[in-house]
Amino acid sequence: MAESYIFPTIWWDGKLTPLENATMNVTQIGTASVSSVFEGIRAYLNPNTNELNVFQLDAHLKRFLQSLRLVRLEHDFSLQDLHDAVVALVRENNPERDVYIRPFGYAESRTFGAATDPHAHVVIHVTDWDSKLKTDSVSHSCVSSWTRLTDNQMSPRVKASANYLNSRYANEEAKRNGYDHAILLTPQGKVAEGPGMCLMIVRNGKLITPSITSGILESVTRESVMQLAREALELPVIEREVDRTELYTADEAFFCGTGIEITPIVSIDRMKLGNGDPGEITQRVLNCYHDVVRGIEPRYEEWRTVISNE
Ligand code: PMP
Repeated sequence: MAESYIFPTIWWDGKLTPLENATMNVTQIGTASVSSVFEGIRAYLNPNTNELNVFQLDAHLKRFLQSLRLVRLEHDFSLQDLHDAVVALVRENNPERDVYIRPFGYAESRTFGAATDPHAHVVIHVTDWDSKLKTDSVSHSCVSSWTRLTDNQMSPRVKASANYLNSRYANEEAKRNGYDHAILLTPQGKVAEGPGMCLMIVRNGKLITPSITSGILESVTRESVMQLAREALELPVIEREVDRTELYTADEAFFCGTGIEITPIVSIDRMKLGNGDPGEITQRVLNCYHDVVRGIEPRYEEWRTVISNE
């Protein structure tokens, strides 16, 4: 994976700051990471207007505030403050391309896991991350031997950095065994999600996705896709527990998430899904999602924060 370009201005505790001046004490790296939480947000360039469309900004920021609250970090930022911060930051960097926006909240601490200073610092930075929508990107996936975290242990509902150690184990194993991505099961053997994305399967024309109590992050993309599928594509959508063997018997499957966008899964544990190509319903969802996030489709305007290049 090519190294990402970090745009030169970041937002740090209320101020636009040059990246090169944004330094912190290196001894804090480990301890501050334990309780840190973050978000990942994409902004897509609309090819017709040349404006950036930040996708579902407020939904991501609401989840960020909820994550901070659940790890009990305190701060003075409202949803509107963070919304304005992202808009100002993107404007300042003036990227003329698709970008990825990463809010990060952390507290400095002397010891691992101690709640010595609950005061959160918030930093937001912008990087490039090219979209793979409509690029023929597909996934050969596997069911991980690692189990997804559980709610009363390290809740997958919290977008906490520490949760991503579970993801790292699964990712590393999948890559080592020659797969693109892992699918994690709950301790009860039900399908949860991928290490950084949710998952949907198609069976008999119905879209089925693990419920929000199946050990998943409450994904903004999953929620958006469900609404698009129901309203724009008139597809039945079901949220429920999903068995492992349903993965193998699915007609189609795809991952969904901010980073992975909509990525068709064409095989699981080397069993082909359908004829091994992205399924028809998956492609309809992908095309619809593409047009909505870029603002080519005028509907769902409320999901897009439009930032003009000035
Ligand atoms: N699950 C996990 C574990 C993730 O890290 C992500 C990416 N944020 C998702 C699901 C998808 O969430 P969203 O659609 O809100 O990006």
